Amino acid sequence: MTERFRQLVMEWDGLAVVTRYDHPTGTWVFIALHDPTLGMAVGGCRMKVYPTPEDGLLDALRLARGMTHKWAAIDFDYGGGKAVLAMPRRLEGEERAGLLRRFGRLLNALNGAYGTGVDLGATPDDMAVVKEVSPWVLTGDEWHGGHVDPGPYTALGVHSCMRVALERLEGSDAMRGRTVVIQGVGGVGTPLARVLAEDGARLQITDIDHARGRALAQELGAGWLAENEVVETPCDILAPCAIGGTINRTTIPLLRCRAIAGSANNQLGEDADADRLHERGILYAPDYIVNAGGAMAFGLMQRGVSDDGEIRSRVVGIGDSLAAILAEAAQRDESPLHAAFRKVERVLAAKMAESV
Ligand code: NAD
Repeated sequence: MTERFRQLVMEWDGLAVVTRYDHPTGTWVFIALHDPTLGMAVGGCRMKVYPTPEDGLLDALRLARGMTHKWAAIDFDYGGGKAVLAMPRRLEGEERAGLLRRFGRLLNALNGAYGTGVDLGATPDDMAVVKEVSPWVLTGDEWHGGHVDPGPYTALGVHSCMRVALERLEGSDAMRGRTVVIQGVGGVGTPLARVLAEDGARLQITDIDHARGRALAQELGAGWLAENEVVETPCDILAPCAIGGTINRTTIPLLRCRAIAGSANNQLGEDADADRLHERGILYAPDYIVNAGGAMAFGLMQRGVSDDGEIRSRVVGIGDSLAAILAEAAQRDESPLHAAFRKVERVLAAKMAESV
């Protein structure tokens, strides 16, 4: 065990992290169980090649914590958990399937402590392989078959939250003429860009996949930014919709946005960055509230809700939760991250009081 590995586990505030080395593929498997107060830990399975296994562990720990906050913030009876399969290289075919089956058997050993689903780098087909050996793949049938993509629901929630942020800043939620920078136009960023274009927002987009990003920019009449221009581009709203950690002590002094609202998980380098943003007068809409649309849609489908209109209207309602959090934060002159965290603590405390 390296010093960094030891440090990460020691400093984490979660319940436990299950660690396994998959010999046939050289993959490190981490299942981080953060907080089971509200129910079984549920969060997606990320499959990625990391520079080191410790980077994969860190991702699992942070993402599991984010899931605790997300489920509590939207009032669903699930705990925070996340799996990371930190692969030595991109695995394909039978090698990949073997890893997934062994992961499924590990889930069986946990016997319901953790339920998984699709996350970055994992596909519905991957989850179908896990499901061959394990019942702990929690995907609605439609989802499991790959017919339902969470991205558009997440985008709907982000859009609703952007309007709420704008309303707080301007007294109007009209997106027309507002400049929005979207960093990453994949499963969430693309439907988000489309709806913002319909609103008449001025879009500036970027993506490391230049061909796909530029094609979308051309289609929507959006501006194209080089990756390194994102931070310093003046805009009303910056929407990180790609990777985490882009808002940090180095980038914050350079930002020229008025608000941040995007789908990426763990946008902040550290929690203290929320205070740095507040000091700079930049409104930060907490990521785990803003990006909860996909999780909410999934949770509703698990509860048997199949009416898409109802699901969409509940997802749009995430904006109301954000509005309450922004109002509380404004009253206390603090970052919304603190108000969001208090909400999470209230929900967890109420559940604990119920079970005493
Ligand atoms: P995705 O993989 O479909 O899209 C991400 C896009 O970002 C890709 O097009 C990729 O090329 C691009 N990208 C990667 N690194 C980049 C960089 N440095 N600069 C610019 N572009 C970059 O993922 P997604 O499903 O759209 O999710 C986006 C983010 O939102 C992720 O952080 C994900 O964890 C988070 N999220 C997604 C959902 C969902 O429903 N899909 C829900 C909650 C949170």
